[in-house]
Amino acid sequence: MENRVVLVTGGARGIGLGIVNAFASIGCKVMIADLGTSGNWNYDLAGKDDLENAQSSAAALGEVATCELDVTDSASCSQAVAATIERFGGIDVLINNAGIVQSGPIQEFTEQDWDRVFAVNSKGIFLMTRAALPALLESDDAAIVNTASIAGKKGHPNMSAYCGSKFAAIGITQSFAAELAPKGIRVNAICPGIVGTAMWLEHLMPSNSTDEEEKNRNFEQAMATRIPMGRPQSVEDMGQAAVYLATAKNVTGVALTIAGGIEMN
Ligand code: NAD
Repeated sequence: MENRVVLVTGGARGIGLGIVNAFASIGCKVMIADLGTSGNWNYDLAGKDDLENAQSSAAALGEVATCELDVTDSASCSQAVAATIERFGGIDVLINNAGIVQSGPIQEFTEQDWDRVFAVNSKGIFLMTRAALPALLESDDAAIVNTASIAGKKGHPNMSAYCGSKFAAIGITQSFAAELAPKGIRVNAICPGIVGTAMWLEHLMPSNSTDEEEKNRNFEQAMATRIPMGRPQSVEDMGQAAVYLATAKNVTGVALTIAGGIEMN
C-alpha cells in the first residue's frame, strides 16, 4: 500500500479518523475530507477545528492533507476529488465513511431529517463514487470501502431512517461491486457495531456529564455487558477492517461485521 492514495469522507474524527490513521501508518497518502461546519444537526458535526486536529495528529503517522466536503452536494464531491488528485496525483482507494444519525418514533420523525439521513448515508455514497470513478479507473489497484453498520443488517425501534439508510448502503455496495468487478475495482462495506463516537455519546446515549473521560467510562461499562466480546468496538478496529478490505485482492461485495459478536448475520 506504500504511496497509494486514499480519500476518506467524514475523516476528521471518530471512525473516519481511525481509518485515516490506519492507512497513513502503512505508507498511504491520505486526504481527510469532512464538512468543516459543525452546526445545523441534532449534535455537532466536524468543524474546521476537527479537520485541523485530524491533520496534525495523522501527520505524525504519514502524509495527509485535508479538504472540506459535503457528500450531499455533487459539486463539493467533484471538488474534493480534484483537490485529492491535485495534491497526490490520483486516487486508489475511496472510503465512503461520512454518516449521521437521527432517531425517534415514526410519528415524530420529520421529513427533513429523514431526507438528510438518506442524503448523507446513502446518496452520499453514490455522489462521491460517481465523482471519484474516473480517477479510480486510472488506478491499477482500486478499491472502495463504504461504512455501513450492523444497523444495515437488522432493524431497530426508533431507528427506521438510520437502519433504512444503512440497508441501502449495503445494497449499493453489492450493486457497485457487481458493476465494477469487470473493471477491476473491488467494493466492500464495513459494518461497525458500537463505537464510542459522537453518534453514541452525543445522541444515542447522551449523558449529563461534561467530563469526557467519565462519559467514555460510562459508555464502556454499559457496553461491556451488552457485547459478547466484552467491550465496545474501537476506531482502530474499524481502521484494521478498512485496510483489510482495501487490500484483499479477491474480496468484493462483502459487508463485514466488526461488532464483537453482537451481530452475527
Ligand atoms: P462521527 O459523527 O464522529 O463521524 C461522522 C463524520 O461524518 C463526522 O466527522 C461528520 O462531520 C461527517 N459528516 C456528516 N455529514 C457529512 C456530510 N454531509 N459530508 C461530509 N462529511 C459529513 O460518527 P462515527 O461513528 O465516526 O461515524 C462514522 C461512520 O460510521 C458513519 O457512517 C456511521 O453511520 C457509521 N457507524 C457508526 C457506528 C458507531 O457505533 N459509532 C456504528 C455503525 C456505523
